[in-house]
Amino acid sequence: MQNLWRDDEARAAIARYAEQGVNEDLALRTYTTRLLGGEPRLVLHGGGNTSVKTVIEDICGDAVEVLCVKGSGWDMGSIEPPGLPAVQLAPLRRLRALDHLSDEEMVNQQRLNLLDSQAPNPSVETLLHAFLPHKFVDHTHSNAVLALTDQPNGAEICAAVYGDRVALVPYIMPGFALAKKAAEVQEANPDCEGMVLLKHGVFSFGDTAKEAYDRMIDLVSMAEARLAETAGADRQVFAGAELPTEIAAAAEVAPLLRGLLAVEIDPENGKYDRFVLSFRSSEAIRRFVDGADLKRYGLAGTVTPDHSIRIKSWPVVLPPPKAGRLDEFAAGAAKAIAEYEVNYIDYFTRNNQATGGDKTQLDPAPRVALVPGLGLFAVGNSAKAAGIAGDLAETTIDVITAAESMGRFESIPEPDLFDIEYWSLEQAKLGKAKEKPLSRHVVAITGGAGAIGAATAAAFAAAGAEVALIDRDADALATVAVKLPGALAVPCDVTDRASVDAAFSKISEAFGGVDILVSNAGAAWQGRIGEVSDEVLRRSFELNFFAHQSVAQAAVAIMEKQKTGGVLLFNVSKQAVNPGPNFGPYGLPKAATLSLVRQYAVDYGADGIRANAVNADRIRSGLLTEDMVEQRSTARGVSRETYMRGNLLKREVYAKDVAQAFVDLALAEKTTGSVTTVDGGNIAAALR
Ligand code: ZN
Repeated sequence: MQNLWRDDEARAAIARYAEQGVNEDLALRTYTTRLLGGEPRLVLHGGGNTSVKTVIEDICGDAVEVLCVKGSGWDMGSIEPPGLPAVQLAPLRRLRALDHLSDEEMVNQQRLNLLDSQAPNPSVETLLHAFLPHKFVDHTHSNAVLALTDQPNGAEICAAVYGDRVALVPYIMPGFALAKKAAEVQEANPDCEGMVLLKHGVFSFGDTAKEAYDRMIDLVSMAEARLAETAGADRQVFAGAELPTEIAAAAEVAPLLRGLLAVEIDPENGKYDRFVLSFRSSEAIRRFVDGADLKRYGLAGTVTPDHSIRIKSWPVVLPPPKAGRLDEFAAGAAKAIAEYEVNYIDYFTRNNQATGGDKTQLDPAPRVALVPGLGLFAVGNSAKAAGIAGDLAETTIDVITAAESMGRFESIPEPDLFDIEYWSLEQAKLGKAKEKPLSRHVVAITGGAGAIGAATAAAFAAAGAEVALIDRDADALATVAVKLPGALAVPCDVTDRASVDAAFSKISEAFGGVDILVSNAGAAWQGRIGEVSDEVLRRSFELNFFAHQSVAQAAVAIMEKQKTGGVLLFNVSKQAVNPGPNFGPYGLPKAATLSLVRQYAVDYGADGIRANAVNADRIRSGLLTEDMVEQRSTARGVSRETYMRGNLLKREVYAKDVAQAFVDLALAEKTTGSVTTVDGGNIAAALR
């Protein structure tokens, strides 16, 4: 592994942080923590921590010896000094004299010795850092080191590779007991440069930030070299299974799987606890999931214990999806998931009883699904959680593959996996985070780069939904998407059926499917109806009618696979019911689209799919350009301002008002075939 330390960057970090009043120790601690955190083969989603022991002045000007240790909620790759809160060192070290310390009391002691009461919680491995004598302590869950230690003879392998340079600490779950054990082991091996925590990760120590970092890179490189001895880059680690020659596409499989994982929680209102999926495939993933022995090595447990909090202790293995036989796959997958959930409940019951019976069971759904012939689907209650699960699943595959290339992968025993998954500190968080009304829902919005599309995307994101933005203009789309973290930008011409199908496939791969469609793309063509060319009329029909039908068909096909209902929302405009002079080319297809909304409501109501329309009018920067506002206000002899407020409420209507109407209709569980007006009141456009 490459050593990324650079003297000039280190000096620059010291100078930069000095301006913020940060001392040299903490500046360099921040610098090398970022170096470690930027390497996913070392640190992934909170799996690692660092510390420095230094002296700072308290508010009275007295020098206090503190441990600056990684705080929870900070990513090591982008950490700043406030992410390494200072805890008084002496009181932490005194705790070592105790026989027992509960996790809750440990957290309490760590918090009450913080110098800043607003600081984040110090890492759960804080005491381990505090009890060690070294100034700088680095800890990672290096893939290469895990591959060595995650084997039945992992201790011997590590001893052979590292000799006296590294001391070995037996597996104990993180907390007070591990901190005491690690300190004991270090004291018995005072010259060691670091420690391997068996089946967990690796520590390195140093008098300087550079020394600790250099040693970490060295220790990891030695593990990599050992793996390379037996595993050539192209060596076939897993014997392949017999698979169907034609495999269905991931986009076809995703909605089926998403539907199978969803749990109906309120049949009266068609409510489901859905999951968001993320599809991943690569050569490494395929070699792993296509292996004949997948169920042995794939279900053997996590590669480092804290992964079980995010991806449970094992994934579900699904049958290979044969092309054209998706019904067979669905039946096989349903059986596999049902078995997984039964096993999970058994595992919980068994281990809960053995440990006092006071734990609350988590939902039994898998967080990773391995699909031979295809790849893996990561599962989460949000796209972010699914993304993390996907990253951990890929790391799991890398580590298991490396371990199997030289021996046999072995995780920690089941009771230890349970202890981490049902850690009291994690249990305490249960039920505290309230979900937003559209969490776990996926919305696709056409015309996503326009004012109404962008406002709609922002409104759905605020309601908790995962957002896919569809628009023909890729550049404009990117500008909108960049303002919405996590939004998926899908360039697509909605008047081209192949482009629409490709767009919805992309959404299914990224999120697992679609729950809500906002068919919003449109454009206003003008012309006196007796004189307008067929070409203009047909172009308008392509965008203002057929495109609505194309995206609705694509969305409904996915919803029918998910079998969890859905919502189709259409931007119809007031032209559909209140034609304006010379707006025939626009109003006629919109009137057809209003009928389309009702037809979907009629044909798909029994499947729980609702179809509703929004009639908006006089939305500045919607379809109404500034030139059109000018023209119309001049024609009426009123100011632009008066024209825009020319409605019953005398209020100007904005894109965000239309967006809110879409969100409201998505939430209106008992409403279908309806038209909502967002126009400040226009009695001429009222339906009658
Ligand atoms: Zn750790």
